[in-house]
Amino acid sequence: MKRTVALYPAPGMSHLITMVELGKLIHLRLHLPVTVLIASPPFNLGDTTPYVKDVESSDLGISFHYLPQPFDFSPQDHNAQHHELLVFKFLNACSPHVKDALELISKSSTILATVVDFFCIASVSVAAANLGLPVYVYLISPAGALASLLYFQEQHRQTDLSFRRLNEDLHIPGIPPLPSLDMPPPTLDREETYYCFLEVSSQMSRAHGIIVDTFDALEPRALRAIRNGLCVPNGPTPPVHGIGPVISAWKRAERDDQCLNWLDSQPDCSVVFLCFGSLGRFSVDQLGQIADGLERSGQRFLWVVRGPASGSGPALVSEDPDPDALLPQGFLERTRGKGLVVKSWAPQARVLSHGAVGGFVTHCGWTSVLESVCAGVPMVAWPLYAEQRINRVLLVKELRLAVVIQEGPDGLVGAAEVERCVRLLVDSEEGAALRERAAAARDAAATAMKEGGSSWASLARLGEEWESRASTK
Ligand code: UDP
Repeated sequence: MKRTVALYPAPGMSHLITMVELGKLIHLRLHLPVTVLIASPPFNLGDTTPYVKDVESSDLGISFHYLPQPFDFSPQDHNAQHHELLVFKFLNACSPHVKDALELISKSSTILATVVDFFCIASVSVAAANLGLPVYVYLISPAGALASLLYFQEQHRQTDLSFRRLNEDLHIPGIPPLPSLDMPPPTLDREETYYCFLEVSSQMSRAHGIIVDTFDALEPRALRAIRNGLCVPNGPTPPVHGIGPVISAWKRAERDDQCLNWLDSQPDCSVVFLCFGSLGRFSVDQLGQIADGLERSGQRFLWVVRGPASGSGPALVSEDPDPDALLPQGFLERTRGKGLVVKSWAPQARVLSHGAVGGFVTHCGWTSVLESVCAGVPMVAWPLYAEQRINRVLLVKELRLAVVIQEGPDGLVGAAEVERCVRLLVDSEEGAALRERAAAARDAAATAMKEGGSSWASLARLGEEWESRASTK
């Protein structure tokens, strides 16, 4: 019988793309065919169709299995306060189809392992257990965030207070003290989403293994603490495999070339790149402060601008904005030549690895961070949603690859602070020191991914584990 590794990504651009990129590695290095289960939500977390089509049409050993729309995902769920809850509910509604899909695939192939996004674990584990399939969780977050997720159960046991009410440093093994308010926003109150994460935490500690998009030399302390069982003091911790950095050089659109051509005409390490993930958006006030700060800094910049946020939390993806209407009057003319504003999207990984880019103002999404690490670019940490505040603490205090941008009491970052950070990145001794450390991290990342490197070896071990399990069945 044929063999395959089944991957089940969560909806959302970076979740899907990073998992499919892992699939490419599995096929390329372990020579195993990969089947990706695709759940298409009726809400927009970014259009991944062109990417999937590209992979489908190239001969990469990856096939896609599309799950039908679930019947019992109700439109009211669209009003969920946090988009994470929406994702959990949708995935739960998909679980009967996942079961059917795994059964169907098992008829023609031996499924060596199911690798699922951490969002999917609760909705998959029963089906996989019934079929006798080992489940591995894939986390596109740092090992430091994994430590906090595994420790969640212990934290829950220790206090009845929500993270919001606790409002003090958490002492999680393997990472610096973490203000409880820096936990992901949907977990701050003991509401429905908090309990979804608690369930994820408990399911993760029962998985066959945890695959994390990091590498040993980047986060040795967190990985050691987890592997020594310190994050799940009252139970077993599955083996943890650091296989990253997994990043994609996918070319999304022709208009990508606009940014790269512009960068070609800029001096080395002179441009600050500002980009806030697939969902990050700001109010018009905040956009105005950023624009003023950039202008006052006199530095070169490439800025990806999205339509303004309405309400708190990340907005789901929107139409292209009109920068003329959103940014201060005359800003685009006054900064022409020195700065480039692009609408909604830039080819970030390729921008970061362009020699003209000297710094990155980032929302601290982990894929963005890894892309910056791979390019050796120092960062300013401006977290917006998900686990990004944890990532900021790690980036600034543990990895020392970024500085913090300070919000005012009203949550707004003022123009003077934007100016300070932009100057710091490209025109200061502190920026030069950050750049040196970023270059060392870039080299370490390349070593980890090369043959014989730690991430290469982790993936090879996983392959052996999968093969030997299948041969003893
Ligand atoms: N990205 C991009 N261009 C953009 C915005 C995002 O290429 O204008 C890519 C970025 O390179 C990364 C992903 O989208 O690969 C964002 O992933 P991350 O985990 O950083 O953040 P998320 O979008 O999940 O919040």
